[in-house]
Amino acid sequence: MNFRSLQFRITQWFVGFLALALLCVWVGVYLSVQQFLTASQKRNLNGAAHNIESEFLSGYGRKGEAWAVGEITETYSGGVDRYVRIFHDGREIFRSEDLHNPLVALSSIPLPARNQAGLVQIDNSSGSFLEMIDHYTSPDGQRFTVIVGSSTAAVHRVLRSLAIILSIVCPLVLIVAALACFLMIKRPLRPVAVLTDQAENIGRKQLGERLPVPDTRDELQRLATSLNQMIARLEEALQHNNRFSADASHELRTPLTIVRGELEQVIQQPDLPEATVDSIGSALEEIERMSQIVQSLMATAYLDTGGEQLECEPTDLGKLVGSTLDQMRLVAEEQNVALVADKLESAVVYGNATRLKQIVVNLVDNAIKYNRPDGNVSASVFVKDSSVILQVADNGIGIPENSLPFIFNRFYRADKARSRTTGGIGIGLSLVKAICNAHGAIVDVKSREGEGTMFSIAFPRYIPETTTSEMRSTKTTSDALYATTGR
Ligand code: ADP
Repeated sequence: MNFRSLQFRITQWFVGFLALALLCVWVGVYLSVQQFLTASQKRNLNGAAHNIESEFLSGYGRKGEAWAVGEITETYSGGVDRYVRIFHDGREIFRSEDLHNPLVALSSIPLPARNQAGLVQIDNSSGSFLEMIDHYTSPDGQRFTVIVGSSTAAVHRVLRSLAIILSIVCPLVLIVAALACFLMIKRPLRPVAVLTDQAENIGRKQLGERLPVPDTRDELQRLATSLNQMIARLEEALQHNNRFSADASHELRTPLTIVRGELEQVIQQPDLPEATVDSIGSALEEIERMSQIVQSLMATAYLDTGGEQLECEPTDLGKLVGSTLDQMRLVAEEQNVALVADKLESAVVYGNATRLKQIVVNLVDNAIKYNRPDGNVSASVFVKDSSVILQVADNGIGIPENSLPFIFNRFYRADKARSRTTGGIGIGLSLVKAICNAHGAIVDVKSREGEGTMFSIAFPRYIPETTTSEMRSTKTTSDALYATTGR
């Protein structure tokens, strides 16, 4: 799970707020119930004390103690969860039975001080009790102290049960809500994931494609529209750049050919001083080099702008690599480098054989060029899922890590001094990349300075009966690039 994903972070915020809200609910419900139970207990005690006074003690003088005590006994003697004690002039005239629920002897509950009155909380070893103490004077002047009390155990029991229930229900609600939020948020975020995937693919291949704009009139629609406008501006700038390169190299080609022709004629003339022949020879070499640059530049620019209509056909890449290696073996031997075909499966891709061969030549040529004496270069072709993988590996000098992101740029050379002596102009890999783009393939490189380099290209595998456009849209993922060749 990605803990930094929007889905996770929104859920995190939601859970945080919900937890806070549930905590408030927990405390609020608990305190309200506690308040309600205590208030009703107080109301009960108060009511009982006033009932005893108005109903029975007010007639004490007229009807006598026996009558009053008898009436009170009838109503209040059973001490299930409430007790009553009545004092007349300091003498206890009535005491209800001991409490049954919980079982508490009344003698264990201390008597209040003489002038104590009102509601009193008593906590001792027998338990905790709430008592109403009222000093009453009857109409005929008799003075009584009425004590009505009850245990708070029942209230505590209810509160404890409530706390347990709330402590189970609140986390449960939190977990269910968090899961629901996590799953439900995925739905509105799905278009963002789709946009991201499509935007990634556009960058990887060509800029010609556009993101689908959802008709939702919300932020996503605005985002997709803005991205499309940005891609259009980028495409325009890039095409302008490529058109310029294509036009410039096209214009340079003719004068270069003319100059070369003229110089070749001049060098044929007899009796030329040796120094002049040398100068013309070196000028011809430079012109050859320039022609190569111009040609590669033109090819890259045309491929990038889509100006070159590639004539594609099903091509067995394994076979093509095999024959190309045979042709390059001599060059490798001259450099004292062993060139091996590691594993060449028969794997068909839909492409232009000339351009595909150019990829192999450029990669193998580099692997030989940037190698060491007695070094190795190996090439392999194999099928992995819906991709055909071409890998060219060497154990040569490698590419410095800070150069890796740039080596597919035009005219980039990792080690300029070194490349110059080996004759590199820094355009071979940009041509490889352009050809790969034109074939819907993904190219990648892994290298360690001093240890070697491996280029991997994943082509969409040709499946008969698929059209060209279907072939191009076959998803070639970079995951396939470093699949093992089974070595
Ligand atoms: P060049 O004509 O200079 O070889 P490329 O575009 O083919 O130009 O390569 C760009 C740079 O990448 C090279 O100058 C070289 O420094 C580096 N490079 C390419 N392939 C390899 C390789 N197999 N081993 C080491 N360095 C390489």
